This record gives sequence, C-alpha cells and structure tokens, in this order.
Amino acid sequence: MKKILTLIIGILLIVWVYYLQKPYINSKIDPISEINPLILVNSENAFPENINLNLVKFQEKEVADIIYNDLVDMYNAALNDNVTLKINNAYRSKQEQTQIFNDKMQSYQNEGYSEDKAYEQTKLTVQVSGYSEHETGLAIDFSNEGHYDENEQMWEWLKNNAYKYGFILRYPEDKYEITKIDYEPWHYRYVGKKAAKEIIKQNITLEEYLGGNI
Ligand SMILES: [Zn+2]
Repeated sequence: MKKILTLIIGILLIVWVYYLQKPYINSKIDPISEINPLILVNSENAFPENINLNLVKFQEKEVADIIYNDLVDMYNAALNDNVTLKINNAYRSKQEQTQIFNDKMQSYQNEGYSEDKAYEQTKLTVQVSGYSEHETGLAIDFSNEGHYDENEQMWEWLKNNAYKYGFILRYPEDKYEITKIDYEPWHYRYVGKKAAKEIIKQNITLEEYLGGNI
C-alpha cells in the first residue's frame, strides 16, 4: 500500500514539475491603441495612416497592444495542449511591406515573368504597401522558422481553437473570390471574440461578416 502511495506521489510530482517547466506567459497589459479590431484592410481598403497604434512585443515581434492579452491566453492554452505557437511575422511597417512586395516581384521577374505578369502574380500572395493587414498589428503569421509548409500541428490547433481567443483564419480555402488572397493556413487576424465566434459558426470571411453587419 505504502509503495503504491509513494508511486502515485512520485508520478504527481513528475507531472507537476513537467507543467512548471512549460514556459507559460503571465503578463497582461492595459492597451491604449485606438484601433477597431474589426477594421477591414484588403486589396480595396487601405489601412488609414491616422490611427493611433501602440505596438508591444511578443516573441520579439511587434503586435498591436489590443491583441496582446488574448494572444497570451491563446499561447498558454496551446502550450497546455503541447503545442508551441511560434510567430514568424506580425506587424510590418509600410516600408517593410514595400520591400517584401518588391523582393517577391523581383523573384518572379528573375524567373522570366514580364513586369506586369510578375506584379499580378505577386499580388496573389503579398499585399501592396498600405493594403496589408500586417500594417495594422492585428495579423500574425504562425510558423516555425519561416517554413510555411510543414506546421500541421500548430495550424491544426489554431484552426480548431484560435476563434476562442478572437483570432480567425483570415484567408481560408475556397474564399479567394472574396478575400483576393490565396489560402494561407498560417495567417491569423484578430477580430475580437464575438466576431470570431460568429465568423467560425457561419463559415464566412471578415468581408462577409462586415457586409452582413453594415
Ligand atoms: Zn500574413
């Protein structure tokens, strides 16, 4: 009997230590940004320049402060399920967005595409500067080391759980006609919990959600 009890206590101790070692994040902040989490930024709607955006750091990347607390909760919940959410890309300045667009376009031109064709091809995956959600600080690309093709576990977890924390898969499969962006399993956008739940429930995009709410 004593042996069994010792064994049980031992196991509990190991579990306890294991969980203690998980790098949960315990910080919370008071946001001061004046950005509406439902702001629509896409190929037809530019991100206005006059928005008071306060950026904070998460995993060495910058995000809008209004998403921080929910992001922390989501990160911890994933960790609880043995999934470590890793951010590859979050806020980008207009200059950084321009650079990314130009680099991508150049790579197509190097492959032999004409300038017009390279521009059109680039627009399928990269937004023109001023029109990228990454400039809002509300969008996050989740990926290990920048690989966008081998993170099923992380993406699967996000697909099933992100909405609980106010994040949506922004460019789903088969929604290109609406979003004008190809399927991106890594790109999540913060819209707040209420909208995220509704968007998931109805299997719609942010464009459709806002269209139905205006
Ligand atoms: Zn992205």
